[in-house]
Amino acid sequence: MAAYEYETHEYDVVVVGAGGAGLRATLGMAEQGLRTANVTKVFPTRSHTVAAQGGIAASLGNMGPDSWQWHMYDTLKGSDWLGDMDTMEYVAREAPKAVYELEHYGVPFSRNEDGKIYQRPFGGHTTEYGEGVSVERVCAAADRTGHAMLHTLYGQSLKQNAEFFVEYFAIDLIMSEDGQCQGVVAWKLDDGTIHVFNAKMTVLATGGYGRAFFNCTSAHTCTGDGGGMVARAGLALQDMEFVQFHPTGVFGPGMLITEGARGEGGYLTNSEGERFMERYAPTFKDLASRDVVSRCMTIEIREGRGVGPNKDHIHLNLSHLPAELLAERLPGISETAKIFAGVDVTKEPIPVLPTVHYNMGGIPTNYWGEVLNPTDADPDAVVPGLMAAGEAASASLHGANRLGANSLIDLVVLGRAASIRAGQVVDPAAPNPTLNTASIDQALDRFDGLRHAKGKIPTAELRLEMQRTMQNDAAVFRTDKTLAEGVEKMTAVAAKLGDLGVTDHSLIWNSDLMETLELTNLMPNALATINGAEARKESRGAHASEDHPERDDKEWRKHTIARVDGPKVTLSYRPVHTEPLTSHEDGGIDPRKIAPKKRVY
Ligand SMILES: Cc1cc2nc3c(=O)[nH]c(=O)nc-3n(C[C@H](O)[C@H](O)[C@H](O)COP(=O)(O)OP(=O)(O)OC[C@H]3O[C@@H](n4cnc5c(N)ncnc54)[C@H](O)[C@@H]3O)c2cc1C
Repeated sequence: MAAYEYETHEYDVVVVGAGGAGLRATLGMAEQGLRTANVTKVFPTRSHTVAAQGGIAASLGNMGPDSWQWHMYDTLKGSDWLGDMDTMEYVAREAPKAVYELEHYGVPFSRNEDGKIYQRPFGGHTTEYGEGVSVERVCAAADRTGHAMLHTLYGQSLKQNAEFFVEYFAIDLIMSEDGQCQGVVAWKLDDGTIHVFNAKMTVLATGGYGRAFFNCTSAHTCTGDGGGMVARAGLALQDMEFVQFHPTGVFGPGMLITEGARGEGGYLTNSEGERFMERYAPTFKDLASRDVVSRCMTIEIREGRGVGPNKDHIHLNLSHLPAELLAERLPGISETAKIFAGVDVTKEPIPVLPTVHYNMGGIPTNYWGEVLNPTDADPDAVVPGLMAAGEAASASLHGANRLGANSLIDLVVLGRAASIRAGQVVDPAAPNPTLNTASIDQALDRFDGLRHAKGKIPTAELRLEMQRTMQNDAAVFRTDKTLAEGVEKMTAVAAKLGDLGVTDHSLIWNSDLMETLELTNLMPNALATINGAEARKESRGAHASEDHPERDDKEWRKHTIARVDGPKVTLSYRPVHTEPLTSHEDGGIDPRKIAPKKRVY
């Protein structure tokens, strides 16, 4: 057994992650007087949320008519009828309140002529249950919305005396013999000490796992650590096959050009200069939902109408828009285009390509953020002491495909919901759990094993092999053949984890060891993704199968549950929640509006 001394910290709640979800949960818990620790591997305001550009969706109706029912309907249609109706209603209803709350906390939103919060159109956001025109629903602080939110939420959390443990890397959950979560074991990156956080409630807000793919818009820190910890605890991951490709990553480096660029009037063209989205989505054109636009771009390229010498990308045009508008509303992306594509957006189009952007799947939760451990007898069984929020979780607001600007609202509404629920179930007067030391030892043994791993394969090499396999075999379009090959290849890649070699054995700022821990987290996420995709014989949202081009509600309107043990993945399924929270008589959405139908934009 590895001998590491550790310091133990006792709190009511420990939140892992200080992105939008982690900070909103931390703030809410601290506001209620719960002793709250936030453990984060990067400084809070460097979390990936800082990169969110386009904005946050809420039916404020500041620019024209809008309603939460329309927002809920659009989210449901965007989800391709896989989202959970109770979560979708909760988020759409609470969204306006959550945005005003952010405003009062100090987020410097852009303004319209009346001085109200400015809102822009975004893909898939419509009026009249998809029958009307595009709606201006997305609240924005220029194209730096996530940046503004993170700084505000961090300041507010400090004001409420939440305690931050910055640059602490959470290694694993501490689980009791009877399946209750008791906290986390963490490694302090700058001095090499080990810390045990004993908590009555643990919240995983660790973000997505975009880095399982070769080309993605997410930060290098988006390595699915929460999903990895959950998989190792024998718990489930949900709907992992649904990976969103954003239509407009900069061709090559993959940096994001926000959908807000199309919201402000930008459009895509092929090698013939044709505005091709008019052909595929006659009503909403370039503002159809992301999965649809990404597929249309891929078809254009495949059929030989891509741009550039190799006809392998598409143009995004903004130069017809007034230069003042670009400077005011899209300053960040104008800069991104200049730096990463060498393009002056006032004069030339930006070369773009669909790029991995968001993980709809994650740790299954209810809309209160409580983590579920589904069984046949109880598909909604709750894991005591454990919550998840944000991109790490699957609540499931986004189902098979997320609408733009619906993640930021997910973070704040469901981060807040988790804190409300924690206020109900955590008793500050109760004693902290007696820790299961066997679980702590297991975490430290794994840590020590990786620290002294003597195999032949460097971490970066195996990571690249995983990323290329996922990029090729779990792509925008999938076939039975590529997915079956992908499962085989990924099983072989994962089996090589046992042959990793780590050369730096120190404990201080050891990035080799940290990246190795991250790779052991990426791997179960990647395995669940490709296995879930291989099993799902239909097309729904972001999962587009060429062999099964239609959605099959009879067989497949269900959530995939994946349990990962080493390279082995066991799949089962869990019913979708098809009942909204509020009946139509009591002001809820009309049930005729939410019955499944074909998804056209
Ligand atoms: C470029 C880009 C632009 C986007 N634009 C928008 C937009 O305009 N609108 C929108 O709605 N959505 C947008 N999204 C999506 C949205 O920003 C993300 O889904 C969301 O910010 C994720 O927030 P989070 O709080 O779940 O995680 P993150 O912000 O990724 O934070 C994760 C946190 O977990 C911590 N962490 C992770 N692992 C560990 C560990 N092992 N130990 C300790 N700490 C750990 C990290 O330190 C970090 O603090 C965008 C995404 C990208 C990549």
